[in-house]
Amino acid sequence: MRVQIRLPEKVKKILKKLQEEGYEAYAVGGCVRDSLLGRVPDDWDITTSAKPMEIKEIFERTIDTGIQHGTVTVLMEHECFEVTTYRIDGEYTDNRHPKEVVFTSKLKEDLRRRDFTINAMAYNETQGMVDEFDGMGDLEKKQIRCVGMAEERFEEDALRMLRAVRFSAQLSFQIEKNTKMAIKKLSENLRKISAERIQTELIKLLLSSNPETIQEAVNLGITRVVMPELDNALEAGNFPMHTMNGIQRPCFCVLSHCEKEKSMRLAALMQYFDEEEEERVKKTKSLLKRLKFDNHTIEKTVRLVRFCKISLKADKRLIRKAIHTIGEEIFPMLLKLWKANFDAEEKKEENNWKERQDNIRKIQTLYEEILKDGDCLSLKTLAVTGNDLIEAGMKPGKEIGLKLEQLLEDVLEHPEHNTREYLLYSVLS
Ligand code: ATP
Ligand code: MG
Repeated sequence: MRVQIRLPEKVKKILKKLQEEGYEAYAVGGCVRDSLLGRVPDDWDITTSAKPMEIKEIFERTIDTGIQHGTVTVLMEHECFEVTTYRIDGEYTDNRHPKEVVFTSKLKEDLRRRDFTINAMAYNETQGMVDEFDGMGDLEKKQIRCVGMAEERFEEDALRMLRAVRFSAQLSFQIEKNTKMAIKKLSENLRKISAERIQTELIKLLLSSNPETIQEAVNLGITRVVMPELDNALEAGNFPMHTMNGIQRPCFCVLSHCEKEKSMRLAALMQYFDEEEEERVKKTKSLLKRLKFDNHTIEKTVRLVRFCKISLKADKRLIRKAIHTIGEEIFPMLLKLWKANFDAEEKKEENNWKERQDNIRKIQTLYEEILKDGDCLSLKTLAVTGNDLIEAGMKPGKEIGLKLEQLLEDVLEHPEHNTREYLLYSVLS
C-alpha cells in the first residue's frame, strides 16, 4: 500500500517549484516521522538536489542560514522553511562535527548521514515515501535505532546519544538493543559536546510527556557526564523511593505531575540535589550555569529549589510574607511544585498526607483570596513612595529604603494599613 502524507500547501509549492526547475525535492526528517505518527510536526524541513545558490535563484525571498552546510531558509508567504542540499558529512574527528560537508546528488546518501531510522525518511507526492533504512518498520516497533552501526554513529557525533533518549521520551519509544549498548559504551564522549546543544536536548526531554525517561539517561551513563549532581543525589539516597514489581527504585514521577514549564521541571529534579538549602542552591546554580541556561530560567529555578522545603501554615499573614520573600512570580509556581510532589507521593496514613493535602489546599484558597483582594505584596503597590517620605520631611538616604521596608512589613500583616494617610501618619508620629 502506498503511504500518503498530507503536506501543507506551502510545502507543496516549494517542492513543486524545485521540481519544475529540474531538481529533486522532498520533505524530510522529523516532519515525515511526526506525520506518520499522527503528530503535528513543529516545522517542515526540505531536502533537495539543488545547490544553495540554485535554491536562492529559484525563490524570491531567502535567508542565508547556513550556506556552508547547504541550508537556505525560504520565506513562503511569511512562513520560514529550511531547504537543505543533499549532503554527505565528511570525516568526524572530534565526536562533534564533520570536518567538511560535501554536497551529493543522491538522496540515499543524504538519508544515510541522519541519526535514527525514524528520522531518515523522505516524502514527496510524486515519489511517495523514500525509506531506505526501514524507518517505517521501527515506527511500527516503536523503537529508536541508529542508521548504520550505532557505535560509529555515536563516535561521529556524541550528542546523538542524548537525542536517542530525548526521542524515546517524546515518542514513548524504546531504544533498540545495539543502539543502547553503544550509548553505554560511549557516553563519556558527551563531554566534548557544547553546553548549548546538551541544554536543548535535555529541555526537550524534560518537557516531553515522559520526563521520567531521565531514568534511562541515568542508566545509560549520560547524566553521569552531563549532570553528575543528579547521579550523586541518587547515590546519596535523596530521592523518594517507589516499589515497582516488588523492587524499590528511585522515583522521578514528580516530573510528570509538574506542568510542562522549564523551571518547574528543572526544580522538580534539582530539589533533591541536597537536603541542606545552601548546598542545594549551590549545586543547582553551578549546573544551570555550566549548561548555559539564561538568567531568568536560572533565577526562577534557583528560587524554587531554595524555598521548596519551607513549611508554611495556612495563615493569610504568613502567606503574604512568604509571597513577598519568595516573589510574586515564583510563589504560585512553588505551590504547584508542592502539589506535584504531593500527588507523586505514595499515599500513606503514617505520612499524615491527608492533613498535608488539606494544608496545601487551604494555602491555595487563601492565596487566591489575597490576589482577589489586591493586597499589597511588594513596594510596587505600597501606598507611599520614597518621594512621599522625603516630602513629609525625611532626609534622602539609606533610611528611606529601610523605612519603606518597615512599612511594607506592617502592611503585609495588616493590609488595611495600606493607605497614604495611615502610613504617613505612622512615619511622622
Ligand atoms: P523536532 O521535532 O524536535 O524538531 P527533528 O527530528 O526535526 O525533531 P531536529 O533536531 O530538528 O529534529 O533535526 C532535523 C533532522 O535532522 C532530524 O530528523 C535528523 O534527520 C537530522 N539530524 C538532526 N540532528 C542530527 C544529528 N546530530 N545527527 C544526525 N542527524 C541529525
Ligand atoms: Mg525539527
